[in-house]
Amino acid sequence: NATFFNKFRIHPSTLVNYFLHVEQHYKQDNPYHNAVHAADVTQSTHVLLNAQALDNVFSDLEILASIFACAIHDVNHPGVTNQFLINTENELAIMYNDASVLENSPLRRSLQAAAGAAQQHPAPAGGLDSGSSSARLVIDIGAGPPT
Ligand SMILES: [Zn+2]
Repeated sequence: NATFFNKFRIHPSTLVNYFLHVEQHYKQDNPYHNAVHAADVTQSTHVLLNAQALDNVFSDLEILASIFACAIHDVNHPGVTNQFLINTENELAIMYNDASVLENSPLRRSLQAAAGAAQQHPAPAGGLDSGSSSARLVIDIGAGPPT
């Protein structure tokens, strides 16, 4: 809502452009881990976070980081498992030293895209820049179990 945009000084057009960019980096030929799955996870999490039982449990920053993490969590997912990437010596497995390959790859791409969006519409402290605590939260959330 408008309060959320104002609180984090996120320009609505920046957000729209960013999510369009994220959507383009989901593989359309992946039958499950595609942009529709990301939208489903993001919407489901939004519903859960709005449950009355969770009122005042999470900070606005934690909510923002959760939504962001849901949207980006499977960017560029190739449709195979971490173990497959490791066993086939895929370049992503090599890049991430066989560690949480499918979790690290979308985080890197998405934080780079966020940094690009921030350059177009600079966000003051509290915005989603790669050095902020919001980025750290997204990394912590995104490094959770693969989905
Ligand atoms: Zn997923």
